[in-house]
Amino acid sequence: MMRTDPTMRLLGAVTCETRERLREVLSLAMREFDFYAKRFRASGVSPEDIRHDDPVELLRGLPLLEAEELDELAAESLSSGRRIIDMETSSGTTGVRKRRFISHEDDASETEFLAELFKVCGVDSASRVACLDTDPLTLMASFTKALHLIGVEEAYMYCVGSDFREMLMNLPRLDPTVIITVPSIIERSFEALRSQYAGRPGTRLEKIIFVGEPLSAHMRRLLESTLGVEIFGYYGASETSALGIECGAHDGIHLFTDHNLAEVVNDRPDSDEGELVVTTLRQGAYPLLRYALKDRVAVISGACSCGLSHPRVEVLGRADDGISILGAKITYNAIHSAVYKDADRMGAMQIVLAREAGESLTVVLPQSMRDQEANVRKALMYAQPDLDFLISSKHLDLSFSYVEDDSFGDERKTRKVVDLRGRFDPAKV
Ligand SMILES: [Zn+2]
Repeated sequence: MMRTDPTMRLLGAVTCETRERLREVLSLAMREFDFYAKRFRASGVSPEDIRHDDPVELLRGLPLLEAEELDELAAESLSSGRRIIDMETSSGTTGVRKRRFISHEDDASETEFLAELFKVCGVDSASRVACLDTDPLTLMASFTKALHLIGVEEAYMYCVGSDFREMLMNLPRLDPTVIITVPSIIERSFEALRSQYAGRPGTRLEKIIFVGEPLSAHMRRLLESTLGVEIFGYYGASETSALGIECGAHDGIHLFTDHNLAEVVNDRPDSDEGELVVTTLRQGAYPLLRYALKDRVAVISGACSCGLSHPRVEVLGRADDGISILGAKITYNAIHSAVYKDADRMGAMQIVLAREAGESLTVVLPQSMRDQEANVRKALMYAQPDLDFLISSKHLDLSFSYVEDDSFGDERKTRKVVDLRGRFDPAKV
């Protein structure tokens, strides 16, 4: 008999259909992935158990899957013989880029799921949807597929360049009723949007759906009051694709646990807050069993007035030192290891993020590293293609500053990441 950890809480009711789907996922994972077969054996689970026992109990006896282990799984996914038609990547929490391999079947299921989520936000056949991003080859491509499945009047990707305020001036001509984008694009182009939309008759913009990063409460209020739009938050990760969406009641994100089971590792047994752990139910080419996503959430109790029964959470942010710049996920540790790649030992470092005329990232290093700057910059660009893209496309300004070697003091007391971007002042945009 297996025991489950009492601080791990499974969110939402598990229907018979979901239970059987999970059984299929466990069985597939054991059959097709040595990586999981080893885990099952180590936990004392046999193929026979998977056929007959409660799959939820079996799942909860497995150890958590950590980001560092994903590469081994990805390698198997690629050689599994399934027809892989796509690969989604991101910079990883450990500096290794996360890869998600997508089969034809997984892709179709994801498109249907995204369509279901957008319908929750009221996107329908009369909607005209602009997907605004800095990079046209990412998530937005799967969004437009889902929007076409809904049968929207029009859906297009609008790739904004470094001077996106200028480009946004042309947006009203396309007459979108819904904009899907990342918060930092809207924050930086707020003034352009306001001049195009606030108090202007004839514009039909009704909703903005945010992806990639949490939107500050201040910005949300500002958009609601000046543009009169309804705001929705989309929640997903590059390893799992979509996880949930905010409904019209605007009280948290509904996690669609018929697509991905969700557990929360509570800080304390009586706490509502903790880290989210996900098990994918419809990702045959890349199943994740108890994947520790490293996102912190607060569980919202009670039924939602919208009528959806899916459990709700408030997404609080990253549990590690993750940084999101214009939707690209980069971590302190990844930058730290690239900076000290050629050094004898890992030294001190601080990152300062700011938003003035544009986004800036300053790497603060000890004086003794000053003569290494050219090499460090090169190593950083090489190790972090997302950073390289943002910098070469002039979306982000990277600089270095130096302090006395001993001024870092006790490293544990120095803040690794100082984020000044939250101090958003619309008057300065
Ligand atoms: Zn709801």
